[in-house]
Amino acid sequence: MTKFRVDVCGVRGSIPTPGNSTARYGGNTTCVSVEVSEGGGKQRIILDAGTGIRGLGARVMKSAETEVNLFISHTHWDHIQGLPYFGPLFDKESRIRVWGAKQGDVGLESVLRRLMDPVVFPVPLDALDAELEVNHINNGGVELDLCSVTNMRVRHPGHTLATRLDGENGSGSVVFVPDNELGPGGDYDVPASWRKDFVKFLEGASLLIHDAMYTPQTLRSGWGHSTYEEAIDVAAEAGVEKLMLFHHNPDCDDGCMDLLAESAGEYANKKGARLEIIAGSEGMEINV
Ligand SMILES: [Zn+2]
Ligand SMILES: [Zn+2]
Repeated sequence: MTKFRVDVCGVRGSIPTPGNSTARYGGNTTCVSVEVSEGGGKQRIILDAGTGIRGLGARVMKSAETEVNLFISHTHWDHIQGLPYFGPLFDKESRIRVWGAKQGDVGLESVLRRLMDPVVFPVPLDALDAELEVNHINNGGVELDLCSVTNMRVRHPGHTLATRLDGENGSGSVVFVPDNELGPGGDYDVPASWRKDFVKFLEGASLLIHDAMYTPQTLRSGWGHSTYEEAIDVAAEAGVEKLMLFHHNPDCDDGCMDLLAESAGEYANKKGARLEIIAGSEGMEINV
């Protein structure tokens, strides 16, 4: 039986929001670590490299792990800006495999090279100590030793991927969708059957981590994000067991997040949605 230990390292969308008013939910941008274990084997999968990856890197170094698989949903700042500060990059013993989509004609390695260009960062990509391998994800997904990874393009500017982790038969599954517009706004390069395909992609997930950046009142249609109501609707439709509201609005402090979480619970009750809903916070640990 495959087990997933999910560590939430960064929940914020767009830009880091440090300070007292966001201390409970956390101010780091998106990063989730998933430790997959089966039998005696263990494998670390990291989903996104927002600023939350810095603290995680320190823990990975302490644990003396040498292999990391990092999946990047897309290359907007809030999903990659922590990467240059990920400790294992500067460790000769580390092997880091990065996976993600090409952005138009621009390869993922080229984006990372720009992220660490000498005009913005002191250590260029070629000078890192770790062994770094950057791969493009093809539609078929990726088979890792302890779990299979499948991806699907979602409705967000750029080439943005949802990532699903499945263990061996009968085990749980974790789906990560940090940025996705479920409403009708925006113009994205996805097929007409997208909504139906997306529900199928999510089907029966044990844990769905989904964009819930907006409330119905703050929604900015066409900006690439969803409301908590839209996230609850799709999760309920797909038979998801647990939904984590994620990619919190930088303008929503802890008090605002408490209200959002409360409203989400009320909405789910009113709809008769049979799923558990949690608002993601930094430091949260979930076992699947
Ligand atoms: Zn984002
Ligand atoms: Zn984005």
